Amino acid sequence: MAIKTSYLAKNVRTLKPSGIRKFFDATTGMTDVISLGVGEPDFVTPWNVREAAILSLEDGYTSYTANAGMIELREAIAKYVDDYYCVSYNPEHEITVTVGASEAIDIALRAILDPGDEVLVVEPCFVSYAPLVTLAGGVPVIVETEKENDFKVQPEQFEAAVTDRTKAIMICSPNNPTGSMLSKIEMERIADVAKKHDLLILSDEIYAELVYDDLYTSFAALEGMKERTILVSGFSKDLAMTGWRLGFVCAPQEISQGMLKIHQYAIMCASTMAQHAGLEGLRNGRADMADMRKSYRQRRNYMVQSLNEIGLPCHKPEGAFYTFPSIEATGMNSETFATRLLQEERVVVVPGNAFGDSGEGHVRCSYATSMSQLQEAMKRMCRFVEKL
Ligand code: PMP
Repeated sequence: MAIKTSYLAKNVRTLKPSGIRKFFDATTGMTDVISLGVGEPDFVTPWNVREAAILSLEDGYTSYTANAGMIELREAIAKYVDDYYCVSYNPEHEITVTVGASEAIDIALRAILDPGDEVLVVEPCFVSYAPLVTLAGGVPVIVETEKENDFKVQPEQFEAAVTDRTKAIMICSPNNPTGSMLSKIEMERIADVAKKHDLLILSDEIYAELVYDDLYTSFAALEGMKERTILVSGFSKDLAMTGWRLGFVCAPQEISQGMLKIHQYAIMCASTMAQHAGLEGLRNGRADMADMRKSYRQRRNYMVQSLNEIGLPCHKPEGAFYTFPSIEATGMNSETFATRLLQEERVVVVPGNAFGDSGEGHVRCSYATSMSQLQEAMKRMCRFVEKL
């Protein structure tokens, strides 16, 4: 029998590789590179959290946990979400511990989508959203935000995009890559659209602890929204635990149990030692989180001021650890800007179009790097822009 030209599923064959990875590969073999490209903390996981994992291994906790995660951890997540976001979830039936927020997004989409169902995806956004909708058999319908609104989606945009196939709105605030955060009033207006059209909100709240000026509001905490919100979060950003692969998802019981069925067959359970570490982080990690937040805040202020002085205007992001300056004045597109900046000054930034077409004209610069590195990066970017 002749070998097929491709054994890949059509959805996979047509999937584009992430525009972020592609850029990092270009730095291989280069020295003295400063990366503002990464989407992860420069801090090491706090020691007590690491120690909890070591102790769990020493104590011989090397087997599977319950599929949904250790009950103590789910209880701690329920307490955390209740204490800080004022939403109460039942740890028995409404919380699943996942392999990062990434898995939580995947199982949420797979649990709710029938083939052809549409999901409104607000762009620019984290690179996985639209591909995961497609892989779950759904259709991503892109809603593009504008820099004039600091990249905050306007409820009328959802109204214009809703069809009778729309099942959910996917939203992330504070946002990756723009750092923009919706106010409570803006969220309420979006919630009204969801209620009017009977939509779910898939709310990626992974940056909820990295908020620098205002209080954070969870979509699930808004009046009448817990029953139509899937709250995704995790430990990667606020506790500097990207490599541990630990996240969680809270949702009404029916959806939660649907997600758990997928998680149980595909994953079984999150890593046991990571779960012990996460539990320690929730119980005793607040001071470390606050220290890291303080440091990010200083760096944000420094970077926003520097970029604006250099002539790369950017709004002051309310959360996460990214700035999203406009590079339009340079006359280059974001890919050319990022490529030349890397070649000429050895600074990595991510082209805005990696996060959707509406990110064009911008680059994402992460400030999850030390102040001294940031200062050097700003010096190099200033030199680069002045030369143009
Ligand atoms: N959502 C957003 C918005 C992110 O920026 C990231 C990580 N860059 C994730 C989800 C994935 O996080 P995790 O490490 O928990 O899978």
